[in-house]
Amino acid sequence: MIKEQFELVEKKVADACTRAGRAREEVTLIAVSKTKPIEMLQEAYDAGARDFGENKVQEICEKHESLPQDMKWHMIGHLQRNKVRQVIDKVALIHSVDSYRLAQEISVQAQKKGITMPILIEVNIAQEESKFGISAEDTIQLVEEVALLPNLAIKGLMTIAPIVEDPEENRMYFRQIKQLSVDIKNKNIDNVTMDILSMGMTGDYEVAIEEGATMVRVGTGIFGARNYGTK
Ligand SMILES: *Cc1c(COP(=O)(O)O)cnc(C)c1O
Repeated sequence: MIKEQFELVEKKVADACTRAGRAREEVTLIAVSKTKPIEMLQEAYDAGARDFGENKVQEICEKHESLPQDMKWHMIGHLQRNKVRQVIDKVALIHSVDSYRLAQEISVQAQKKGITMPILIEVNIAQEESKFGISAEDTIQLVEEVALLPNLAIKGLMTIAPIVEDPEENRMYFRQIKQLSVDIKNKNIDNVTMDILSMGMTGDYEVAIEEGATMVRVGTGIFGARNYGTK
């Protein structure tokens, strides 16, 4: 079941790459496994998934222990400063950095572990009140400030687009954040590469790929609907 769904999403990713004239290798498919049991993650792994997205520190810590060590974990949810220490050596990339204070804490903990932590800056591109992330206008300044912190590498931007009926409605947001990342890249800031653009979820990942996403985060499309009631 998960194998078939993963392969279907994989095919749609490949087709979107073809439409956009991009190589399949330019886009990483992240299987968003939050709330799902490890058996389902193992199934996705067996189908070929290696990148997994989670939004809770505790869940990453638990799952990390009991699954294959070559899985790459992506922290995609809001991260509290007091939990950075626990998660920093378990994740390949933190997508959700939206304040200087959080970046500072990641920098401190990375120094303690002797690692350089790759991060993305989360941008609230549609300026939705319900969402985390900083505004597009404030992004360049935050990038410039965070770039000065030791043991951090700013790899790009992440956004969560609005929930819409028709994915075409989000195309302009994807275009805007792509342009923002190009503008930042052109500034040639030390420690800032802007190679990664994390955008697109189950409802709109194909449009996101057409507009330049290099990471798409697909949960429901691979694992089915989430049930927050039971677990
Ligand atoms: C849950 C989540 C996703 C996946 O959402 P689906 O619509 O199930 O694909 C992607 N990104 C973030 C940040 C999430 O929290």
